[in-house]
Amino acid sequence: MQQPVIAKREVTQYILKRFGISTNKKLGQNFLIDAGVVTSIAQAAELGPEDEVLEIGPGIGTLTQGLLETGAKVTAVELDNRLLPVLSHTLEGYDNFKLVHGDILKTDIKSLFSGSFKVVANLPYYITTPIIMALFEQHLPVTKIVTMVQKEVAERMAAEPGSRAYGALSVAVQYYSKPTICFDVSPRSFIPMPEVESSVIACDVYDELPFLPKDEKLFFKLVKAAFGQRRKTLLNSLCGGGFSKELIKTVLQYNGIEATRRGETLSIAEYVTIADAISMQGGGR
Ligand code: SAM
Repeated sequence: MQQPVIAKREVTQYILKRFGISTNKKLGQNFLIDAGVVTSIAQAAELGPEDEVLEIGPGIGTLTQGLLETGAKVTAVELDNRLLPVLSHTLEGYDNFKLVHGDILKTDIKSLFSGSFKVVANLPYYITTPIIMALFEQHLPVTKIVTMVQKEVAERMAAEPGSRAYGALSVAVQYYSKPTICFDVSPRSFIPMPEVESSVIACDVYDELPFLPKDEKLFFKLVKAAFGQRRKTLLNSLCGGGFSKELIKTVLQYNGIEATRRGETLSIAEYVTIADAISMQGGGR
């Protein structure tokens, strides 16, 4: 793999100036200027010529170049139309690159690929969670998701039950995949510098889901309710979330789960047990 050449402060500044572009904070535009980080992200994604990749938000093509150098076929979705001519220039000559202009949250991702693919991105932080949830919930044939996110979001995604960071996002991510925090990235690796620390996290998406609730919708409704009011007991949070108090009491008691526990102490398996018991009682609607 060749060293990416765009990932340098002077090159990025020169490209932005040449195309008369000022970065747009509202679109989460913090461009990478650290070649080491670009290379490490491509390595974390374990890319080779046999891989197809979706990149979300290529920007001026900094990370994209590192991905393309592995020989992988990269399809990138960028919202900001000012960056389209920039990308044609910076990535000229790579025949393994395809650019799609659009909003990733409105794109029919499945139609862009014929088989399985990986997702690699330095995500726009203002929509990190909706993007990650959309990738999982659409049940796309994704095998691996490697993303740069805000450090505390990475910690929430990978958090274990009982820890402060454990929440509905941890359950959702770990329901669909096995997350591993790869490394931290300093604000100095971007221009402009973000106000937060970042981390790269790799999620190995399960081929077969290890947890199979009878009613997936009910399972996620339950998880959302349990974390809705973190300071309340499980019983009170679930009642506040629209479940009947009598039913929850019975279900918890029958399954040996203390009603005074808090949502953040329950494992995914315990949430599945509760959701299945509720759905067997017909109490989820
Ligand atoms: N990949 C580049 C890099 O690492 O230097 C840029 C990353 S920058 C953090 C996020 C990119 O996502 C920007 O190029 C921004 O314009 C783009 N973006 C923001 N919202 C988007 C959306 N809804 N759909 C697609 N791209 C989006």
